[in-house]
Amino acid sequence: MAPRRDYYEILGVDRSATQDTIKRAFRRLARRYHPDVNPDDPESEALFKEMAEAYAVLGDPGRRAQYDRYGQARPGPVMAGDIWEELAGFGDLFEAFFGTTRGGRRARPRRGSDLRYDVQITLEEVAAGTQRVITADRLQTCASCGGTGSKSQKGRQPCAGCQGTGQTHYTTATPFGRLSTATICETCRGQGTVVTDPCPECEGQGRRVGQGKMTVTIPPGVEDGVSLRLEGEGEAGETGAPPGDLYVFVHVQPHEIFERRGRDLYCEIPVAFPTAALGGTVPIPALGGADELSIPAGTQSGAVFTVARKGLPDVRTGVPGHQYVRVRVVTPKKLTARQRELLAEFAGEGGDQIEDEKGWIERVREALIGDD
Ligand SMILES: [Zn+2]
Ligand SMILES: [Zn+2]
Repeated sequence: MAPRRDYYEILGVDRSATQDTIKRAFRRLARRYHPDVNPDDPESEALFKEMAEAYAVLGDPGRRAQYDRYGQARPGPVMAGDIWEELAGFGDLFEAFFGTTRGGRRARPRRGSDLRYDVQITLEEVAAGTQRVITADRLQTCASCGGTGSKSQKGRQPCAGCQGTGQTHYTTATPFGRLSTATICETCRGQGTVVTDPCPECEGQGRRVGQGKMTVTIPPGVEDGVSLRLEGEGEAGETGAPPGDLYVFVHVQPHEIFERRGRDLYCEIPVAFPTAALGGTVPIPALGGADELSIPAGTQSGAVFTVARKGLPDVRTGVPGHQYVRVRVVTPKKLTARQRELLAEFAGEGGDQIEDEKGWIERVREALIGDD
């Protein structure tokens, strides 16, 4: 026989744990391993018996003190009755599991599954908002029987196997006496009702796989990665249960020109160096079109201009962000003979001198030479 595990270890509590902590630990474990929750699982059943035994001792201050004194030795006969009384108080627990009261513990028909669908949209669509028609295979309410699952429309009838209670009882012998346990009725899967004249289209399920067509409206300003919930557009539930929801995950494709940061758009434009020096109007990209930007004389490479309210709308308020345009001054690579002549003349006029606005050149020179 395997060595007996320590009762405290079984319940996962300290030796100094209060009675209340022990009780809570046991209830938590029982909730997980109770035979009703794990039908036909011998391992859970064995664990459950083990923890019931541990709790029978540690849950009682007198027996616990005795156990503490004599250690691993098994204490005298344990009155099992107390444990099962304790367990009988788990009605609320079973309600949580099976959705019915203790008097008539029946499984509620299950809600339909949620579905996920992914859509890709462009930045232009983010700006204006868009719609998508989604087609997806899903379990839908059977059109022939209207979801009752029954051909004659009389719907579900009380189950003969369990007299409509949804459960059957069996008794097991345990070290502490006979334990009567309820298990889910296999005929009706715990629902207490069955379809006696199944609809041929859905075989009594009340739902069948079909192609669903849903239109999803994607609001302007939506962020990449958000999900939109379409209530009731998931799979149909079991007879009498509500459908699941459809979650549409929106993915915004990267744009070849614009980078998005929240509501704001960023782009870079090349500007010929005479234009940067003299100032002028340059074409700039806009979402879904083109625009113009006036730049002043003496514009430096890297300068950023704000085009107010040309960003994306805020998804809640609709207030647009801004568009930021960064200038990159381009140095010509190929010069004609005449251009070279003109540039040389320009340099001769002092055009090769850099305006040392912030004493930058001076600082670089100091850094190179050292300032001794
Ligand atoms: Zn049907
Ligand atoms: Zn039944």
